[in-house]
Amino acid sequence: MDAHPQPLGGNEMPRFGGIATYMRLPGTSRLADLDVAVVGVPFDLGTSNRPGARFGPRAIRAESVLIRPYNMATRAAPFDRLRIDDVGDVATNAFNLADSVARIEEYYDDLTTHDVRPLSIGGDHTIVLPILRALARRHGPLGVVHVDAHTDINDAMFGERITHGTPFRRAVEEDLLDGERVVQIGVRATGYAADDFDWSRQQGFRVVQVEECWHRSLTPLMAEVREQLAGGPVYISFDIDGLDPAFAPGTGTPEIGGLTVPQALEIIRGCAGLPIVGADLVEVAPIYDTSGATALTAANLLYEILCVL
Ligand code: MN
Ligand code: MN
Repeated sequence: MDAHPQPLGGNEMPRFGGIATYMRLPGTSRLADLDVAVVGVPFDLGTSNRPGARFGPRAIRAESVLIRPYNMATRAAPFDRLRIDDVGDVATNAFNLADSVARIEEYYDDLTTHDVRPLSIGGDHTIVLPILRALARRHGPLGVVHVDAHTDINDAMFGERITHGTPFRRAVEEDLLDGERVVQIGVRATGYAADDFDWSRQQGFRVVQVEECWHRSLTPLMAEVREQLAGGPVYISFDIDGLDPAFAPGTGTPEIGGLTVPQALEIIRGCAGLPIVGADLVEVAPIYDTSGATALTAANLLYEILCVL
């Protein structure tokens, strides 16, 4: 094995040049040589409102070009510590949701066989179900830090049981989660019934509605979350619509009154020390992201996740 794969520097190739891998990583590694694989999952057949998250991986790679290897706030050096590379995209089937889900599951089964931790770029939130299936098969029931405007625990949407609004209900039914070690942060807005979020609580999830987050640092919350989740494998699932649409307008189901970017950094940095087995960032839909700010934020949040792996 050669030295760890490194992002290409801005003094070797201008930042607007070259092939757009995540953070200008080489994109040439074999799975067997990696600790962490950055995987694109271009898929949005599970969206209920505005489509377009299939273009998320490409836009996030494009906006990731300015990110440098060292974290000046936390001093993390992920590329010195871990073998990380962009391994490309899952070949989803744009004509068939169920077949896409099966293809994603098969892809992540292969990753876990190689003991590679996945950092996934969505895609809509449907993709977390096949990812959790593969990871739970390898690690057993998972704790989850789930950041989202929505709990994604619907039983069905328009009669369909696998959509971007149902993955955490299916994951509970399939025993993929350790309910006492799941926290949902940033949930808000309107529901079909006033007790919609209580199903999560009945599974043992801690539900942190966004009103509990307003006007304050989330660092104290994350100290409690670390204590709650420390006992077993943890997965991070970050839906970009957890952020306020002022910061992340490029998404399919935006809700007002959301988290700020500094709060997102506090959540991710607050996961440091947890036994994280994988993570995703989902629901970036570039066609509503006229400035690129949503994809830019997503690219940086993915980097912050690399820093706590
Ligand atoms: Mn979601
Ligand atoms: Mn959402």
